[in-house]
Amino acid sequence: MIAVVAERADGETRVAATPETVKKLTKLGARLRVESGAGVNASISDADYADAGAQVGEPAAIMKDADWVLGVRAPAVPDLAGAKPGAKVAAIFDPFRYRSTVDDYAAAGFEALTMDFMPRITRAQSMDVLSSQSNLAGYKAVLVAANTYGRAFPMMMTAAGTITAAKAFIMGVGVAGLQAIATARRLGAQVSATDVRSATREQIQSLGAKPIFVESVAGIEGEGSGGYATEMSDEYKKAQAELVSSHIAKQDIVITTALIPGRPAPRLISDEQIASMRPGSVIFDLAVAQGGNVEGSVPDQVVEKHGVKIVGYSNTPAHLPADASALLARNFFNFLSAFWDAEKNEVVLDEEIGDAIRLTQGGKVVNERLLG
Ligand code: NAD
Repeated sequence: MIAVVAERADGETRVAATPETVKKLTKLGARLRVESGAGVNASISDADYADAGAQVGEPAAIMKDADWVLGVRAPAVPDLAGAKPGAKVAAIFDPFRYRSTVDDYAAAGFEALTMDFMPRITRAQSMDVLSSQSNLAGYKAVLVAANTYGRAFPMMMTAAGTITAAKAFIMGVGVAGLQAIATARRLGAQVSATDVRSATREQIQSLGAKPIFVESVAGIEGEGSGGYATEMSDEYKKAQAELVSSHIAKQDIVITTALIPGRPAPRLISDEQIASMRPGSVIFDLAVAQGGNVEGSVPDQVVEKHGVKIVGYSNTPAHLPADASALLARNFFNFLSAFWDAEKNEVVLDEEIGDAIRLTQGGKVVNERLLG
């Protein structure tokens, strides 16, 4: 029995299953229960879920004897009342940030499985919630920046004169940054981008944008395990700050996306650098919820400093609830179906993925990234 909860976190509009994935899971042999109202913010009604084969009900009814619980965010332990002892809960726990939730799960004996620790291996790509959501976040960041900007993005030649193209600079070229480059290009901006991982140089060029890289500090690759960035040396950080300072002063739009797993987001833009930008410029800080890449950015507020507007959402994908839910739900389905044991009629995880994403089991915190 798999229970899908309605999200309770502020501003969380997404849902972990859609009628499409309910149908597919039911076909495998699973039984689904969906909390009433779970899909409402993603434009999915209770009737849509019922038509797909789920039982729709109030929290107590859907949780009763559940072996599995799916949530976008981890439900609080009291909201799991009625689930089977040791039930498995798959959600985005964001465990470095919400460590006390992990401890609560251990104390209550539930098995927490965090989708954001999915290993970056080929067969897990379709289960990777960070990729599916970052892609949408990169797209949305550019649209919000364009909307906040008091000028147009493309060059326009009109009878009344010419409007020059906006200059957009993307800092951090992971999944979100690549989509931000593509979106800003589609809108007609002149785009440049930077990252600490040298492998991104070609990716930037292939999207038709200009790479801006620190050349003076040799031998730094910037890439750690799983393709993630590593923390950079002080020498590199200094060279990067100088490069960014001269480049940023000429930019109209800046999108920052830099994250380092398990650490606060690196600071990329200082107040002094903001002051060097043209009034009316816009910065979107995609890392604002992880401490921010931009000095002075505040989640869910438009902060104006030196005439520059700084924007950042605490949960950017939640601003595209229908598509974000559709992709997340497929990540959950791909995960459950990959491990579906047809004989036992249940999900049996393997060691590689199970160990990577399991946070708690048998009353203890078991994940080495949290214990290390
Ligand atoms: P991320 O969200 O962890 O970070 C965003 C980007 O910021 C990264 O490119 C990172 O290098 C960059 N960054 C960090 N510190 C920086 C700094 N000081 N200055 C400038 N940039 C900085 O990254 P991500 O989007 O998860 O992607 C990282 C890589 O992993 C990409 O190459 C991506 O394609 C790869 N990836 C692989 C898989 C898979 O194989 N299953 C899944 C997802 C991502």
